[in-house]
Amino acid sequence: MIITRQKDLKEILKFIGAGTRVFIVGCGECSTTCKTGGEDDVKKAIKALEAEGKTVTGYSIPSAPCVAAKVKVELTKNRKAIESSEAVLVFACGLGIQSVKDNLRLDRPIHTGCDTLFMGQVDSKNAFLERCSACGDCVLELTGTICPVTRCPKSLLNGPCGGQDKGKCEVDKDKDCVWILIYNELKKQDKLHLFRQTKPPKDNSKSAKPRSLSV
Ligand code: SF4
Ligand code: SF4
Repeated sequence: MIITRQKDLKEILKFIGAGTRVFIVGCGECSTTCKTGGEDDVKKAIKALEAEGKTVTGYSIPSAPCVAAKVKVELTKNRKAIESSEAVLVFACGLGIQSVKDNLRLDRPIHTGCDTLFMGQVDSKNAFLERCSACGDCVLELTGTICPVTRCPKSLLNGPCGGQDKGKCEVDKDKDCVWILIYNELKKQDKLHLFRQTKPPKDNSKSAKPRSLSV
């Protein structure tokens, strides 16, 4: 899931500027879970914008604004309300925001309602955890299914560094050193030979941006 945080209202108002009529697009997937672009969040944003003198001409919450087929249907359904607006404000991740721009087929400025933070796992307490950076060359098979690229602040492929202290990370002492976690996991699995094996540098061409894929 893509983790987002709503931007501050003051910042959003600066983006909108002098225009008064705004159409809002939310997101029925990740941004609903993050409480940044779901129905309740959009309604709260509408109240806040109206209190600042803006008129919201309508809103729509596509199930996944990052998917062209889904966002197009919603934008078409709301064509009139969008036409009567001066701008479109999107509460979704960077993918959703750009997808709205790519599929709007109307000359309206698109404003950014959220900051996109990371790709996150959701734990049982609903906390969002960064566990994968989509490096395109996965090493989990060698590391006890624990990602050092993402969970070590230095992204070390051969750790731990000299800074770990009693199993804690030198960068953030509240966090476990991921390489100690990897060691313990591989030991448990009787695979310490993988820990001793020097991992070669990653093939960074696999994460050269922008990436695309057709299936
Ligand atoms: S190594 Fe880590 S960042 Fe790379 S694909 Fe695997 S989990 Fe994701
Ligand atoms: S202490 Fe461990 S997790 Fe922290 S930077 Fe060093 S190797 Fe990475």
